[in-house]
Order: sequence, then C-alpha cells, then structure tokens
Amino acid sequence: MKEKKEFNEKRRLALKKIGATVGALAISPIVLSQENGVNKKRKPLLKVAHITDIHISHENDAPNRFKKCLAEIKKHKVDFFLNGGDTIMAADYNNITRESVINQWRIWEKLRSEFDEYKIYSCLGNHDMWWAAPDKNDAMYGKNYVIEKLGMPKRYYSFKKEDWYFIVLDSNNKNAGALDDEQRVWLEKELTDMPKGASVLVMTHYPILGVSTIPYGGSHTDSKYITKLFYKHQDKHIHCISGHMHLLDNAVYNHVNYYCNGSMSGFWWGEGDQDSAEKCWYHETPPGYTIIELFDDGSMKNTYYPHSY
Ligand SMILES: [Zn+2]
Repeated sequence: MKEKKEFNEKRRLALKKIGATVGALAISPIVLSQENGVNKKRKPLLKVAHITDIHISHENDAPNRFKKCLAEIKKHKVDFFLNGGDTIMAADYNNITRESVINQWRIWEKLRSEFDEYKIYSCLGNHDMWWAAPDKNDAMYGKNYVIEKLGMPKRYYSFKKEDWYFIVLDSNNKNAGALDDEQRVWLEKELTDMPKGASVLVMTHYPILGVSTIPYGGSHTDSKYITKLFYKHQDKHIHCISGHMHLLDNAVYNHVNYYCNGSMSGFWWGEGDQDSAEKCWYHETPPGYTIIELFDDGSMKNTYYPHSY
C-alpha cells in the first residue's frame, strides 16, 4: 500500500514536470501498436474513435461523466465512432424489468444526441440484449431491439471508408463469444471478395484472440476457426479490435494484430474493488477510449487514452 502511494506521488510530480494535467488518474496515452519500423511515408486516411463497454445507467453520475469524455474525444477530430458493445449497463440478467431496459436505452439515446454530428457504427455486447422478455415475440426481446436502438443495419455487417474495409461481427451466439454458421459463411465471402492487399479492420465485442483472456476468460471460443480463416487471407492487412474485458491488451498472431481496448466505464463507473490498481480501474486498466489512425499502407496506430472522469 505504502509503496503504491510513493509511486503515485512520484508519478504526480513527474506529470507536473511535463505540464500534464495533475490528478490521481492523469496518465499519458498508451500506444499499443508496434510503431518501430513503420513506413515513415505512410499517409493517414482516417481517424476513428473506438469506444467500448460504456455500460450507461443513471448510477454513479455516469451520463455526465460520459459527456465529459465525449468533449475530450471530439478534440481529436475523428471521422466517426466505433462502438464495441455493452452500451447499456445490463439488460441480460433474469431479473431485469421492461422499465429498466427502456430507461437504460433512453439515457443512451439522450447521450447519442450529444454527438449526433458523428456517424457511429455499433456492435452488440452480451449485456445489451433483454432475454427475460415475457416471450420471444415481444418487440423488446433479444437482438432486434438493440439493433434498432443502436441504428445498426443488421447484427453483423460491413462498410467501406476511404480504402479501408470495416467488418462488425456479432459474437453473441452459442458458445459465446462465437460466430454462428450463417455468419461464418458471410465472413468467408466478405474476405474472399476483397482485393489482394486490402486493409481490413474487424470489430467484435469479445476478443477474437487476447492476452487478458488467459487469466480471466472471456475470449471468442472459436479463435481457432477465425485465426485460420485470417491466415488464408495473409495477402490482406487485417487488424482486430474488441472490448468486453475492460482490460487493455494486444496480441499478434500470424501477422494479425488484436487490440482489446479497455473500456469507457472502467469498473462500471464505480470506485473499484480490492483488485483495482487505482480508483475506478478494472484490475490494472484505467477507464478510457481509443483513437485509431488508419494509413494508406494498411497499417494502423492504436492509442488508448485513459480518462479521469
Ligand atoms: Zn462490459
């Protein structure tokens, strides 16, 4: 405990020296991508904000704190947002009422209007769906309601911006996180239809492959299938981003980069527990958001910005 205090004090003083914001949680941005040996002549094509695991509810003043994060993200002048899922606190537990689900999405819709000048491409998180609806024909049951609330075209989809292909997957299937057969067929075709050398960014909620998933679980259970599929497409530049863990990590396998980009909510906007390295952190990961820069040579820079709200 004492050592940690001393460390924090040293860090505070170091931050003061460089003129950074002094606060218990002020930490420099963390660059996860390998920047050694990058092509110095690469041209930036897009700048994107990746926010994930927002877990919005009225508790802990989360809406106002999220608004402050948004103001900070806007300063990065991003082209659009990617939302990695678990947008609301939780609709998936058995005891969640209709009223609670409506309320949670209402908060999100209100917050969404704070940055509706930006396009947002969302992904389904495991906590977003209300499975406890009285029956499967209920308009609020399951994925379709969430798809509508998040303005998604479908539970999985793709789009193209500049020279980059974006693929958003739905990991919420049997043996989650996993793709269902229908989605496998679709993904295989998407990749096959892309030209040689294509630049691809894949977003999932659960990490396809991770590091923090080794001690804590939570990985895609079909990583073998997906990594083998990506290996067949070595002629392309494939990068993957995820959330779910609330932990920050980076794995590289067969030249594909997998970034698990922490979470907006840290310890679900709460103060944390005995495992939190700092207030509001989940284990050793501070709450934050990611700024992704995409280049013309198929490379990307992934920078995690811890926030102190
Ligand atoms: Zn989450």
